[in-house]
Amino acid sequence: MTVINAFTVDLEDWFQGLTSTNVHPENWGNLEARLEINTHRLLGLLAEYNVRATFFVLGNVAERYPDLIRRIDAAGHEIGVHGYWHLMVHRLSREHFAEEMDRALERLRPLVSRPIIGHRAPYFSINGQCLWALDVLHEKGFHYDSSFFPTRNMLYGYPDSPRFPHRREQNQLIEFPVSTARWLGITWPIAGGFYVRSLPLTIVKAGIRQLNRQGQPMILYMHPWEMDTGQHYSAVTFRERITHYHGRAGLERKLRGLLSEFRFGPLAELIPAVMAPA
Ligand SMILES: [Zn+2]
Repeated sequence: MTVINAFTVDLEDWFQGLTSTNVHPENWGNLEARLEINTHRLLGLLAEYNVRATFFVLGNVAERYPDLIRRIDAAGHEIGVHGYWHLMVHRLSREHFAEEMDRALERLRPLVSRPIIGHRAPYFSINGQCLWALDVLHEKGFHYDSSFFPTRNMLYGYPDSPRFPHRREQNQLIEFPVSTARWLGITWPIAGGFYVRSLPLTIVKAGIRQLNRQGQPMILYMHPWEMDTGQHYSAVTFRERITHYHGRAGLERKLRGLLSEFRFGPLAELIPAVMAPA
């Protein structure tokens, strides 16, 4: 049977994802809003390939663009939560994280037609230091989380975490770690915006084939700003210039290569396979 992979989008504007601008929300209103134009382009691409995805939406975005969220929902995509202010979960107290969830859910629920059951932490920031966050998600009615990054990069990672989707014994929440490949005894990140932008398409495809051969889905993530070649902001840090801007021009071509070769769907539709493995 063909494995269904997950196409996931973290819905935030470019300045909410950059660590240098994220910390000054009082300035967000002065920065060029690029979310709608980029999201419409991405929605068009997904529609062309008849693919439904999961959009993890920042509560702040839902508040600012309610019609955009309604449109994404009406196109059949799944809506999940990506926090309210795009904060690192491992820096929050349990109470603060719970408040972030309440505030985001309050904004999102009136806009969508299906129950909200999925969460992704900003910066994949649920790791071994803050597994209590999964208990909070369970208490708030979420069915799954997709915040583990089972290797390390410059900003985040949880190298000891399981690599594949699994049900957590402690609270029965399902975790969908972002996909990695194993080559030469090393765990390689392949499945995210930066990696798809930076790696040759043949490597990404080889990684998906490796996972699918093992009966595992590829959990792919990206952000609408990664397709944006019309935005130029010079005050970024050296790291951000690489992590946020490298390879943008080639991303659409690579996504087309993936969308035309592999099957993708929203994460919620992968739950039955985790509950009853083949
Ligand atoms: Zn994000």
